[in-house]
Amino acid sequence: MERVYLDHAATTPLAPAVLEAMKPHLTEHYGNASSVHQYGRQARVTLEDARERVADCLGAESSEIVFTSGGTEADNLALKGVIAAASDDGAPAGLVTSAAEHEAVLRPAERLREQGHPVSILSPGAHGAISPQQVDAAIDEHTALVSLMHANNEIGVCTDIPAIAEVCRANDVLLHCDAVQTVGLLPVDVDDLGVDLLSLSAHKFYGPKGIGALFVRGRVDLGPLVEGGSQERERRGGTENVPGVVGLAAALERAMDGAEERAERLSQLQRHLVDGLADAVPCDYVLNTPIGEAPVAPHVVNVAFPPTEEPLDGEMLILNLDMEGVLVSAGSACTSGALEPSHVLTALGLERETASAAVRFSMGADTTEDDVEYALDVLHTTLDRMTG
Ligand code: PLP
Repeated sequence: MERVYLDHAATTPLAPAVLEAMKPHLTEHYGNASSVHQYGRQARVTLEDARERVADCLGAESSEIVFTSGGTEADNLALKGVIAAASDDGAPAGLVTSAAEHEAVLRPAERLREQGHPVSILSPGAHGAISPQQVDAAIDEHTALVSLMHANNEIGVCTDIPAIAEVCRANDVLLHCDAVQTVGLLPVDVDDLGVDLLSLSAHKFYGPKGIGALFVRGRVDLGPLVEGGSQERERRGGTENVPGVVGLAAALERAMDGAEERAERLSQLQRHLVDGLADAVPCDYVLNTPIGEAPVAPHVVNVAFPPTEEPLDGEMLILNLDMEGVLVSAGSACTSGALEPSHVLTALGLERETASAAVRFSMGADTTEDDVEYALDVLHTTLDRMTG
């Protein structure tokens, strides 16, 4: 049976060249980067070389890169680390974020609120994005940090990070950006974006799972999340994942190289998919990715199906598509399994039943027009069967 993987926003396959780069560090070069002997020193050189390469890709200094276990930890470290350090004088520091953020930001934000920090959660506007004006209005004398994502993982809408960075600078507030979905697709230079902190995760751009990084601008004071050894300049304890950081660096360099052409190709596939929906969908549908109306990441198309006579069972739709070889997500993979409709789609104002019947197609480097055609065909027959 044909199998079409359209869930690249959840994860991407490891690139063979990245695996090759990692292999020696999974086998013969096994030293602990903190050991003083030659194996340790060799691992340290590899680690610092990878840090330099990651920093170069982002336009950062190597001392500004903290390796983490992925995007979730990078987001947690940014929020909890900055707020803890900013609250050092006793007054609880505040956070501004949005209701459309990934759970990796929303959960720490809730935790900070429980701990007595003022947390303002902005509602996204018509297309799911947050405007600089909203951020400006939400910042008050307690605010230490604003955290907003570069592109939304469920609907793909982009935030105007440079404009929001200006607002943050004018108010003397730090800006964290979750760029987990955009590395390798949109330009991610920390100075051009104007961010103080930025999260990324290797498995979203053909690198290994379980490794990511947080960029932390030199002047930013950040408390540790994981305490133990003094690794990562005391910002993240634990023996360094040398094979992982080598994979991250290799994957990031590959992602940055040719990002523009990749994005253009994906945009064409995205348009192809959206144009094809009109024929493929035999019922009403809502396009949640605001293509042509707001800037969007080029790899995501999110579509929801309002109830006709009966609500459509979104999970059943995903499983039926899967049985026909079309692998997609109901929303973000991290929340699938939960019966609740997507918090992003409900924040957009979709009715519960419509938000529960949504499909996210996300394309990648190997996706072809034929794959998109196949997915549209299968969507058509599946919806016919389920709604007919
Ligand atoms: N932030 C966003 C926007 C994501 O899409 C994801 C994963 O889907 C994460 C954070 C979490 O990253 P990780 O899977 O590396 O923990």
